[in-house]
Amino acid sequence: MAEQKTEAGGWGALNSSLHFLRRESFLKGNATLFRMNQPRGFDCPGCAWPDPKNPSPTEFCENGVKALTYETTTKRATPELFAKHTVTEMRGWDDFTLENTGRLTHPMTYNPDTDRYEAVSWDEAFERIARHLRSLGSPDDAAFYTSGRTSNEAAFLYQLLGRLFGTNNFPDCSNMCHESSGVGMGESIATGKGTVTLEDFEKADAIFVFGQNPGTNHPRMLSELEKASKRGARIVSFNPLKEAGLLNFTHPQNAVDMLLGRSTPISSHYYQVQIGGDMAAVRAMAKFILEKAESDRSVLDHDFLERHTHGFEEYRRLVAETPWEVLLEQSGLERQQIQEAAEVYFGAGSVICCWAMGLTQHRHGVANIQEVVNLLLLRGNIGRPGAGACPVRGHSNVQGDRTMGITEEPKEEFLASLEKEFGFTAPRHHGFSTVHTIKAMAEGRVGFFLGMGGNFASATPDSDLTWQALRRCGMTVHVSTHLNRSHVVHGAAALILPCLGRSEADIQAGSRQSVTVEDSMSMVHASTGINRPASEHLKSEPAIIAGIGAKLFPNGPVDWNYLVSDYDHIRECIESVIPGFADYNKRIQQPGGFHLPNPPANREWRTSTGRANFISNALPRLSVQPGHLRLMTLRSHNQYNTTIYDSGDRYRGITGERRVLFLNADDMRELGLTEKSSVTIRSHAADGRERRAPEFRPIAYSIPKGCAAAYYPETNVLVGIDEHAVKSHTPMSKFIEVSLELER
Ligand code: SF4
Repeated sequence: MAEQKTEAGGWGALNSSLHFLRRESFLKGNATLFRMNQPRGFDCPGCAWPDPKNPSPTEFCENGVKALTYETTTKRATPELFAKHTVTEMRGWDDFTLENTGRLTHPMTYNPDTDRYEAVSWDEAFERIARHLRSLGSPDDAAFYTSGRTSNEAAFLYQLLGRLFGTNNFPDCSNMCHESSGVGMGESIATGKGTVTLEDFEKADAIFVFGQNPGTNHPRMLSELEKASKRGARIVSFNPLKEAGLLNFTHPQNAVDMLLGRSTPISSHYYQVQIGGDMAAVRAMAKFILEKAESDRSVLDHDFLERHTHGFEEYRRLVAETPWEVLLEQSGLERQQIQEAAEVYFGAGSVICCWAMGLTQHRHGVANIQEVVNLLLLRGNIGRPGAGACPVRGHSNVQGDRTMGITEEPKEEFLASLEKEFGFTAPRHHGFSTVHTIKAMAEGRVGFFLGMGGNFASATPDSDLTWQALRRCGMTVHVSTHLNRSHVVHGAAALILPCLGRSEADIQAGSRQSVTVEDSMSMVHASTGINRPASEHLKSEPAIIAGIGAKLFPNGPVDWNYLVSDYDHIRECIESVIPGFADYNKRIQQPGGFHLPNPPANREWRTSTGRANFISNALPRLSVQPGHLRLMTLRSHNQYNTTIYDSGDRYRGITGERRVLFLNADDMRELGLTEKSSVTIRSHAADGRERRAPEFRPIAYSIPKGCAAAYYPETNVLVGIDEHAVKSHTPMSKFIEVSLELER
């Protein structure tokens, strides 16, 4: 049985950070670290956890160190590397080996005659892209994908490029992660963003954490949870897995705790809900509270309900009609556990609810989010200090990209102000999200794919179909820092455009430029790279987009070179087009930047009812066939999205392997499996198509019976393209019906 860790941080985090610094770039890495997440420094290219107003001199976590050393590595993927290996050969490498070749140094173009990538000039690369785009039958034959690392300035120019070209095909990584949060909260309270700030964590009496593993995916959140725990706040976690970061934490920068080996308990209550059972668990809490309210009015905020909400009575009736048996069966929890959690909830003056993929990547992902918002509304826990909704974003600027217009469903007012600013007619018809882009490419309806960062081939569901789709494209182009799967699964023509890292100096027209990002709590702040770039041939993301724009639209209406000669020019345009960015260039000069308006945080409800809406969704149907399991995909602690920093997963007791399948010990016994077995995981999607992931080693683990977990991207092949959330189309990577076939 894997030796699960019950404590995060500590000496393990320190040793791991030193390991990556030593392995990748000791001197440069160390010198750069102390400018990360600092005023006048650069923003960590990792997750979107906000920086405190007064950051500590070492304002970074272990995974921030990995994200940085990934950029500052001394390894280089030069034209010589590409000359030595055919693309077919590289396709046989695993994801770690591909990215471990280091930083790309030159623009590269694929030569089908030699089956190799060869260096190409920037000018020629831009010319080929423009020529290919002009050759398309329709602007909608092109798709412009965005990964959440893209800065505000690059994202704004990117959407401008695509819309000038005539399409709204802007699939982005948010489609695969928090889209369900955006759609769910949009209907409930008319915002897709969290309503809390970092300061609210210091005021909350209770913090509920649903379907999130902050110890790996947002590690600095543990500092806030540690402080909250130390001051007596209750922390209630719902997660099928017992995650170390939600159990105990030793702050690696607290010398006393480190020397004494003293850790702080994080969760005061921990519930291993079964996969897919969160909605039932939250509704069960609401049921307990509403039943209690019949005899004790104080458990509800009646004034808030009357003055600020819509649909309460309908919701109250639905909850009353939902039988306890169904709620307990679906959640996999005991009534006593639900009562405990509910008592913590209504016993707390102010409550924050946090969540991540464990809620969003389900067919009922949107309903999951709306049920959590319903719970918050019962006691007016939105729009006051210490209370609110907190979807925690995984990518450093994924929220900013959406704010900049990276969406396949742009709002009319945004398009109208864009047209006014640039004097063109923007397309109105909605475009393709990620899953629709894959289907359109597979059916030959999209023949041009441009990836602004990320690793589309590995991050997406239904890998076999996605790879076929990318290969069917006439041209695939990727703006990247490292070689990855998407470069070796390519279209007839293929280009790799190497860009600057977040930590690298971006000089335009002789002066250093800053970009801006927006964190999970709507704070917009500047990020200024400091290091000499990994290669003199790299360009910034904005400069790459401007290079394509200038070739594609040589006669305007946008003066691309003017805009990228000084990014203040881009921000002036953003200020004119997007509300909330007044005095943009001035306000990013202040340390920490500025907060974007968040109407629900001020109890302003811009919904169709003019109120915060209780949304009454039916519970989902969660059953799987007998002998089948519910599989959830997840990250290891040595992984960031699809980037594998190293094999092994310290907190889960895994060393040197990734094809492991976490199973309940009783399920293993009943299936006749041991930890020496090897199995093929087979998924059972509604389309009946065969999807398999072979060679997984079963590992007995603390997970509810009938549930299983394994790492992505290795298991993304199992997620059917039509297996996605209702309304948000977020792939249901947290609920895959599977069966196991014994190989040996
Ligand atoms: S918490 Fe996220 S943003 Fe902060 S240092 Fe760690 S990885 Fe970077």
